[in-house]
Amino acid sequence: MWRNWSGCESSEAAVVAPRTIEQLREVLAAPDKVLRPVGAGHSFTPLVSGGGRILDLSQINTPTVLTSAPGRARVSANARLHDLSAALQAKGQGFRNLGDINVQTLAGAMSTATHGTGRDLPSIAAEMTGARLLSGSGELVEIAAEDLPGVQVGLGLLGILLEIELNTVPAFNLRRRVGVRPFEVLLEQMHGNWSAHRCFEFFLLPHSGKGVQISHDVTEAAPSKPPLDLDALGLQVMKVASALRHLHPKAQRGVLALMLKLQGEEDYVGESWRVLSSTRAMRFNEMEYHLPPDVAEPVLRDIIALIERRHPDVWFPIEVRQTAGDTAWLSPFQHGRRVSVAVHMHGGQDYTGFFHDCEAIFRSAGGRPHWGKLHSLQRRDLEDLYPDLGKFDALRARLDPKDRFLSPALARMFRP
Ligand SMILES: Cc1cc2nc3c(=O)[nH]c(=O)nc-3n(C[C@H](O)[C@H](O)[C@H](O)COP(=O)(O)OP(=O)(O)OC[C@H]3O[C@@H](n4cnc5c(N)ncnc54)[C@H](O)[C@@H]3O)c2cc1C
Repeated sequence: MWRNWSGCESSEAAVVAPRTIEQLREVLAAPDKVLRPVGAGHSFTPLVSGGGRILDLSQINTPTVLTSAPGRARVSANARLHDLSAALQAKGQGFRNLGDINVQTLAGAMSTATHGTGRDLPSIAAEMTGARLLSGSGELVEIAAEDLPGVQVGLGLLGILLEIELNTVPAFNLRRRVGVRPFEVLLEQMHGNWSAHRCFEFFLLPHSGKGVQISHDVTEAAPSKPPLDLDALGLQVMKVASALRHLHPKAQRGVLALMLKLQGEEDYVGESWRVLSSTRAMRFNEMEYHLPPDVAEPVLRDIIALIERRHPDVWFPIEVRQTAGDTAWLSPFQHGRRVSVAVHMHGGQDYTGFFHDCEAIFRSAGGRPHWGKLHSLQRRDLEDLYPDLGKFDALRARLDPKDRFLSPALARMFRP
């Protein structure tokens, strides 16, 4: 049985892993089953499950980097971000920005508008400048410039991405600084910090009154020794602290205060792709909404109040980032910067009530959800949020006229 990373999605459908384009065409030619492409299975939403077959593209033999010139590379769509980062670094190039992890495939990351953080840094999808895909009717299509905004964030609904051309930047080093700050300071200073730093983000730690801020800035300095990665240990302590709350109300705050006291300030330099992404050892489920920047502060206050009043068992940190605007038709960042607020619950906890309440706050503040993270949008919601939905529908009708990629869950959003 196929399962996604967190285990919240599963499927009994057969997983097919063609090795050549011809084999892929044969799978497409076999009628009557909805096919859903899979990358690294790191989405929380039913993007891969719900079809008759899952298409694993990892065996298709394409070189990681096909061509590269300064500022531009053509790469395998199904390569993992860490392999691509290493291969681009060997050519003196790199991604402009990356998210928290780098195990996703490029096609998977772009298809859901995966992002990192940085006021002037767009999502990974916005870096796509060209693409080759196998359409629903089995044709190899080189995507025309006017269709690119549809394919950049395509949710695996337009065809099987095989090659992607993207913007790159000269390889660079980043200085990473990490520190603990009170909530109030983080909220007051967030917009100033986004202006001051290339990349800035923070994590609010529920029930502690504090959070951890992280900045990344370009430096000419050589890499230094990274500190031990204690994130997984920190999460274990937060989990234990939450359990202690049931024994004594003050115990959780006490343990969190001690933990934050022990968290020293980090300051080190590394190659950008090694510094930006790390591993996530503890399983969780996540909802993330992208909000107009001016509503970020009241939304964060509402979420903290919600946890304190109605969901005291939530202990996972709340992540806050910012991403530059772009022009992709289904991009949550279309036409302007957005501040992203992500709420998480430990993999073993029931997330439905908390996420339901958070979504009401996010929606009333004009948020658009991350396509790969839990949300409950339906067709009518998309019509309100995405002015270019009609263009996407028309492109999908052209590239997948027989709905080969349209599972029932996706039809609820994408059948006009
Ligand atoms: C631990 C963790 C950390 C994360 N951190 C971040 C983060 O920092 N920032 C962020 O924005 N998101 C983050 N995410 C979300 C994640 O980046 C997205 O859900 C992303 O889409 C996952 O990529 P994937 O390769 O696993 O693709 P999958 O989840 O397997 O698939 C995603 C979509 O891509 C489609 N697809 C895959 N391959 C192809 C192809 N060849 N052609 C056409 N369509 C294809 C699939 O059909 C599906 O619609 C995180 C998720 C997890 C679990």
